[in-house]
Amino acid sequence: MIRAADTAITIRGVNMAICKKCGAPIIWIQTPANRYMPCDAGLVEYHAGSTPDFEDTVINDKGEVIQCTFDFQCDPDGKAHIPHWATCPFSDSFRRTGQYEL
Ligand SMILES: [Zn+2]
Repeated sequence: MIRAADTAITIRGVNMAICKKCGAPIIWIQTPANRYMPCDAGLVEYHAGSTPDFEDTVINDKGEVIQCTFDFQCDPDGKAHIPHWATCPFSDSFRRTGQYEL
């Protein structure tokens, strides 16, 4: 459920919003399953991989979840967005309810 309509603005077709909990700029990315994931608006460079060392998660512009790490020495595999629940100081409330009420 998206409850950010009162703070949402659209820039180049991207749903921009402000997290009501911490005030950070976020965007809503539509996943292949037609859900919307709140993600940090800024892009980060990541290095993708599937071993337990890759314990971070990013979402690309297609809404695909990528297992990755931000701690790498090689060239990055690309740039993507961090799910906002990973960075929001109030993310405990996301996990408790299982919903993204931003
Ligand atoms: Zn937040």
